[in-house]
This record gives sequence, C-alpha cells and structure tokens, in this order.
Amino acid sequence: MEFDYDLFVIGGGSGGVRAARVAAGETGAKVALAEEDRYGGTCVIRGCVPKKLMVFASEFGGLADEAAGYGWDISGANFSWPKLRNNIHAELDRLEGIYRKLLANSGVETFDARATIVDPHTVQLSTGETKTAKHILVAVGGRPTVPDIAADVAITSNDIFLLEDMPKSILIVGGGYIASEFAGILNGMGVAVTQFYRGDQILRGFDNEARNLVADQMVEKGVDLRVNTDVVSMEKVDGGVKVTANDGTETVFEKVMYATGRRPNTDGLGMDKIGLELGRAGEIIVDTYSQTKVPSVYAIGDVTDRVQLTPVAIREGMAFVETVFKGNPTEVDHELIPTAIFTQPEMGTVGLSEEDAAANGPIEVYATTFKPMRHAFAGGADKILMKLIVDKSNRRVLGCHIVGDHAGEMIQLAGIAVKMGATKEDFDRTVAVHPTAAEELVTMKTPVRTT
Ligand code: NDP
Repeated sequence: MEFDYDLFVIGGGSGGVRAARVAAGETGAKVALAEEDRYGGTCVIRGCVPKKLMVFASEFGGLADEAAGYGWDISGANFSWPKLRNNIHAELDRLEGIYRKLLANSGVETFDARATIVDPHTVQLSTGETKTAKHILVAVGGRPTVPDIAADVAITSNDIFLLEDMPKSILIVGGGYIASEFAGILNGMGVAVTQFYRGDQILRGFDNEARNLVADQMVEKGVDLRVNTDVVSMEKVDGGVKVTANDGTETVFEKVMYATGRRPNTDGLGMDKIGLELGRAGEIIVDTYSQTKVPSVYAIGDVTDRVQLTPVAIREGMAFVETVFKGNPTEVDHELIPTAIFTQPEMGTVGLSEEDAAANGPIEVYATTFKPMRHAFAGGADKILMKLIVDKSNRRVLGCHIVGDHAGEMIQLAGIAVKMGATKEDFDRTVAVHPTAAEELVTMKTPVRTT
C-alpha cells in the first residue's frame, strides 16, 4: 500500500521533533509532523527553559546581599517582572523559530494543526485534511492536572509565565518538582510564598536527608512551607483568593497555583479508534521499544507516563528511529537517570535513595553537610549536602545525592561514574579538585551509617 509518508509524528515537543528530524535527516524517510500549539512543547515553551531563566532571575536578589560581604555596595537594585517576562517571551520566540528551522532543514513537512488518529495508518488534521503513514509516532506530551476544588480558581505552571504582573503573595499547592521549584523562584523575586504539601515532607521519593535539607533551606530563605496541610475550600474575593486550610487557617492570597502533577494529553486523540486502551493515568501503554499493541503506532515522552523528563523523551525518540528506521532494535534504558530539581537550594540525584537502597541489602552511607565557602564568607546560612550510598557487598555506588549550588551540573558528571558501575574505591582514588564543593565526593573516608 502506498502511504503519504513513512512517518507521521503527532506533537512538536522535544521527543517528537527529535524523532522526526533524525528519521528524515539521517535515514531519508519521508516525514511529516503536526503541532497544534507552539513548536518546542512543554520543555521549551512552558517548562524547563523559561523555568530555568526564572531561576536565574530569582537568584540576583540574594547575590546583591552577598556582594556586600565581598566589598560591593549594590544598593537600589530593582526587579521588573514585566521586563523579565517580555525578555523570556522574546527568547521563546527565538527558540521556537530554531525548532521550526531544524525541522525544515531536515526535510520534515510540518502542519500547524491538531492531528488525531483515525486508523492504524491514518491521521485527521484539524484543517480537514487526512494523511496516511506507514508509522505513526505519538509524542503529544502532557498537561498540568488540578483537583476539582482548584478548577476556575487556581493557576498552573502554564499560566505563571504569562502573568502581566508579579503577585505580592501566592499559595503554591503541591510538593513535587514544579511546586518546590516555583516556591523558590517566586520567593527569590520577592513574592510572599506559602507552600502547602499534603504529606510529611516535600519531594516524596527522593533521599530523605536531601529533601529535608532542601525543605529546611527553603524555609530559611523565607518560604512559608506548611507540610501535612491541604486546602479545604477556596473562593475568589476582592484582591485574590480566600483559602481555608485543614489547619484551620483562613488566608487571602493574591494568586493560588496548583502543581499537583501532570496528565497525558490523550483526550480525544483517537486511541480508542484503533482499539487501544489507555492506562490508569490516561497514558499510552507501550513496550520497551515504545511500540503500542498496534504495530504501526508508537508513542514516546510524557504521553507514555514513564519518566517525565525531556532528555528521556529525546532518548525514546532516538531509540524509536534506531529501531524502526535504522534496522537496529534499541530498547530505551530507564535505569540510573540523573536528574536535577531546580529548587533553591538545587538538588541533583542519581540512583537509589538511602531508604530504598537499605531496603535492598546492606549499605554504607557517606555524607557530609557543610557551609560552602562562598556563602559562609558573606555570612550566608546556605548548606551543602554531599552523599554517597554504597553497596556493602560489591562496593558499588548505588546512589549519589547533592544539595547546593550547581548540584545539577555536578550530578551530570557523577552520574557517568554511577552509570559505569563505579565503586567507592574508584571515587576514592580520584584526586580532589581543590577548593571546590564537589571534592567532598572523593574525600569522604568514613561511613556515617551502615545498615
Ligand atoms: P509531581 O508528580 O512531581 O508532584 C505532584 C505533587 O502534587 C506531589 O507532591 C503530590 O503529593 C501533590 N498532589 C497530587 N495530587 C494532589 C491533590 N489532589 N491535592 C494536593 N496535592 C496533590 O508533579 P509536578 O507537577 O511537580 O511535576 C510533573 C513532572 O514533571 C515531574 O514528575 C517531573 O518528572 C517533571 N518535571 C521535572 C523537572 C526537572 O527535571 N527539574 C521540573 C519540573 C517538572 P504526593 O507526593 O502526596 O503524591
């Protein structure tokens, strides 16, 4: 059967764009891609990229204080939200242009339209056209999801980048990556930030010692973090939203932002038309090659709800191209993924938490907490955590957890060693780089705990 294309990609985010342009550019496949919104997807348009720019912006306030300890007088500093927002949007326009150009240069035909699946080889575009393809790759991502109580009252991370003015106060609900990152960002910009988390401690699932330090330092920096706290009711009032919490408090916040998880964008996508049942969270179920039960249909990235991270979606896209267009079946490796949470302080982590590792067998824990030279000199209260979890039986480093400045940069490199299966002795025989914070990773000699 003759198809219009070898590959039709639905979704122009990190994963879809990468798969489309590599398939077209490197294998000569005839590829089309449809995107209903902006090219670049969540990461570029309303996620990682603008978020990180906001993290940078939020750090300057603290720098001015610290500079005094180093002999500088930087008084009279002022922050303009509209200026930052406009600059960020100009940057996003530039990046979106690059994404479009990359696709065009690779020979991918693009449609600025919504695409839905009609049958295993056919997509319907919102323009009315129908296109056929030998393979369909679904890479439509996800979107923030909020409980009913928050609908129509709260904003989400999608809206925060679009606000005309900076709010004076905000309640952030949730204790995951997004809630905790935005608590730090807005606090650093001078917003009065309250964060409610329904459980005992934010960043559930990460190493306890690391998340405790992040939480303590967030509070130290001014975030009003309230754990075991949730919203009972909310109503719009003059000047904001009146929030009644389960601790009996009633407070008016100018804005309320919910960061309570994300949901795959599968509503109305047509997966039912090809007989595919979705998972419990609405995700597309795929095998280790990202293939669905319908052989011509694959899915990658957040829509599959495996690991919701841009570099993982890109990996999945590359593995898909290897498998389907290069004749080299490639499973995606989801083991030992290093990740950074851009809280303030930042956290970088790879491998098992102390708690998870201890549940698997005997371990040694190496950890040190200290005041980093730079902040200590200027009288700051910041602390760093460097932590290694070591398997007692084979000496392998099972987990590495870093809290402090540049933790994301450090964990990328430590992640290579951990992924290679480095032992504690491999770390030990590496000479320290002095004076740095990272040198602690190779100079910790005595375990603080063994189990
Ligand atoms: P997460 O799943 O990380 O966190 C959701 C949070 O909301 C949890 O603390 C959860 O509590 C809480 N929650 C869920 N439902 C409710 C509810 N009904 N009422 C109150 N609280 C609730 O989601 P995020 O939205 O923060 O992030 C989504 C994903 O995006 C992340 O998993 C991550 O993979 C990715 N991401 C990665 C970033 C990075 O790499 N730096 C940055 C931002 C996002 P509980 O713990 O009790 O379930």
